[in-house]
Amino acid sequence: IFLPFSCFLVVVAIWRYDFLETKAKARNEAFESNRDALVLVSVQNKIIDYNLKAGKLFEKLNIRLAEGQMDEILKDAPGFLESFRSNGDMTIRALIDKQERIFEISTQKIDSLSASSGALKIICDATEAYDLNKSLEYQAMMDSLSGLYNRRAFMQKSEEIRMITDENDRSLHLLMMDLDHFKMVNDQYGHQMGDRVIATIGSVLKEAFQLDALIARLGGEEFAVLLSGWDHDEVIRKAELFLKDFAGHPFAGKDESFHVTVSIGIAQKSKAVQSLEEMIQMADRALYQAKDQGRNRLLVYGGQGAADIIPAPAQSKHIEV
Ligand code: GH3
Ligand code: MG
Ligand code: MG
Repeated sequence: IFLPFSCFLVVVAIWRYDFLETKAKARNEAFESNRDALVLVSVQNKIIDYNLKAGKLFEKLNIRLAEGQMDEILKDAPGFLESFRSNGDMTIRALIDKQERIFEISTQKIDSLSASSGALKIICDATEAYDLNKSLEYQAMMDSLSGLYNRRAFMQKSEEIRMITDENDRSLHLLMMDLDHFKMVNDQYGHQMGDRVIATIGSVLKEAFQLDALIARLGGEEFAVLLSGWDHDEVIRKAELFLKDFAGHPFAGKDESFHVTVSIGIAQKSKAVQSLEEMIQMADRALYQAKDQGRNRLLVYGGQGAADIIPAPAQSKHIEV
């Protein structure tokens, strides 16, 4: 009784509501409107179908995508060809409009009941995501005010550098520095001016020690410089020069310009002072002695196991804030 009635309903659905046609159209629509480039390949490595996005992408690589043997069609794009041949996911780089772009290519296997009948290759342009990730990583390591590495980056990178100097038997110097009477700068000239001083010391430090150094703002008004493979006398000479340069830098106050100074404690890696923690401790000790002795100076922690603090020769004149 019901069978003819059901058949009648199915026939009406197909005829009246375009039932089968709609399904095919919907599939096609989904294929074309996908935000990624899609290429359908058979187990015999033939390109069976692709969406408009894929056609346009390969056009930019000077490849005309078509149905046919994959090896022949993609012979000028070896990265894509390799990823199409592989069953897994791959990340490849390609030059498009003279710019390097990054593509993540994933594989969606298409299995029929009996055997595999091919795979859908999904090509996603991940360049922006990669760039964003890189810039987030960069931001997480940098101190935006001074333009220097932050404490976390310093601790991580300094340990890597220390291990290399151990392997190569190179020298390692650590400079710990702290702005003098910085609270007074803030109190007298305002927090914004204090921030400008921090930004300035960042650029003076970068200029003084240039490319060979790991320079960081450890927090507040404390900075560190790690120098590997530097001659001891050269370290002292450069640090003194920096001390003078920075002290000579005028900042515009309300009525007249003012100067800010910095104190520095230096420690060198030696048999007695080997780990970074020890170097930081010793450089800190020298720094606080430099503060005690009147600021605007550098003191060197006596390396080679000596626990005494050796003042470095020649100091620039102390300029009161
Ligand atoms: P000393 O010579 O002994 O180092 O004296 P100081 O005044 O520099 O040291 P103190 O530790 O008493 O004060 C440090 C000041 O640094 C206090 C704090 O408000 C200021 N400071 C820390 N971070 C920042 C910052 O990011 N911006 C500004 N403007 N000030 C900061
Ligand atoms: Mg200070
Ligand atoms: Mg301090």
